[in-house]
Amino acid sequence: MTTLKAVAQAQAALASRRADFPLLVKFPELHYLDSAATAQKPAAVLDAMREYYETDYANPHRGAYDLSARSTERYERARKRVAKFLGVRDADTLIFTRGTTESLNLVATAWGRAKVKSGDEIVVTGMEHHANFVPWQQLAIAQGADLRICELTEDGRIDLDRLRALVTPKTRVVAFSHVSNALGTINPVRDIAAVARKVGALVVCDGAQAAPHLALDLDALGVDFYAFSGHKMLGPMGIGVLVGRREILEFMPPYQMGGDMIEFVYDETSTWNVLPHKFEAGTPNVAGAVGLAAACDYLDAIGMAAVRAHEQMLLELAHKMLGEIPGVRIYGPAAVADKSGVVSFTLEGVHPHDLATILDEDGVCVRAGHHCAQPLMRRLKVPATARASVYVYTTAEDVEALGRGVERARGMFG
Ligand code: PMP
Repeated sequence: MTTLKAVAQAQAALASRRADFPLLVKFPELHYLDSAATAQKPAAVLDAMREYYETDYANPHRGAYDLSARSTERYERARKRVAKFLGVRDADTLIFTRGTTESLNLVATAWGRAKVKSGDEIVVTGMEHHANFVPWQQLAIAQGADLRICELTEDGRIDLDRLRALVTPKTRVVAFSHVSNALGTINPVRDIAAVARKVGALVVCDGAQAAPHLALDLDALGVDFYAFSGHKMLGPMGIGVLVGRREILEFMPPYQMGGDMIEFVYDETSTWNVLPHKFEAGTPNVAGAVGLAAACDYLDAIGMAAVRAHEQMLLELAHKMLGEIPGVRIYGPAAVADKSGVVSFTLEGVHPHDLATILDEDGVCVRAGHHCAQPLMRRLKVPATARASVYVYTTAEDVEALGRGVERARGMFG
């Protein structure tokens, strides 16, 4: 096939894909470049949730009647679907949560309070989102442990030599992001896990920015816990995932107490339900799980390799366009192949918030701020950056509009 024909085919596929996203159809002038914050929803996800509410809706797990059994079946089918998408064979080790934040708090609280003692060490990195930083910091304070922060290389990667030096036999847990939300850096999960394993530390990976963009085989990834949010991968808000190793989940005390997570409740004590229910107290978000499963179907139909190839093309273009504008500084790895989804940048003389406001006038949606990564911003010695992020529906035209807008801002501020 000629290159031109391949390009034309890819463009036609993208045009029909955009038609799947009602909000993008409704606002064709919008250049939505904030998918790292949350992704737009395809009609297939919205339809699946509506269909569940109209057909099988009842409180699951509780009723003896058929409708409740159908609701339970939808929920458990969604769990299996998401597990398959992630390469998780034992679907009962996939816990549905509210999102990455709740997943990470669950581990830091339930596992951390049981296992981390005074004098122990907890290792995180200098690029973590607050959701994978503050729970560990507060656990360290509560237990009298030492929070150790692995510094980064100049180009925003985890410095593996420093990590090796930082991890000691006292290290109980190493927590890090698979992909940085503020830099786009793809971290070498296996190498980091190997360092942690050597001293028997727990390996916790924040996959919020990876699960939507990279093909995953979690059973083979070598981590103990992996967390992400549905809303960043075309699913609805309010549903997320924590995948854990069975032995650890079985040992861990529950995180929240209430309905569904118990086996027997006596006046004096209680016993816990089996996995995954032990960690899913209260009425679950069945519609959210159904929507997330539909998002997995949608992504699988495109193919995660194609998702990655499309995003790489857009990041190449963004790096090139922004790199040619005087005064622009891009943070994170220079090579697009080492990044996923995100371009974080500043324009000299223009505060990122002003830049985002100017871009908004052109319908270009980017995020400006510390991206919930204040420790990282301090290390970069900037108060904030502007961040453009792409996904399956993003076009080259969106990225070109970003480039034109940044040029315009530069003109305005001289
Ligand atoms: N970790 C990373 C790397 C993220 O990008 C985010 C979302 N910005 C989170 C954690 C938190 O996700 P949520 O707000 O969906 O819980």
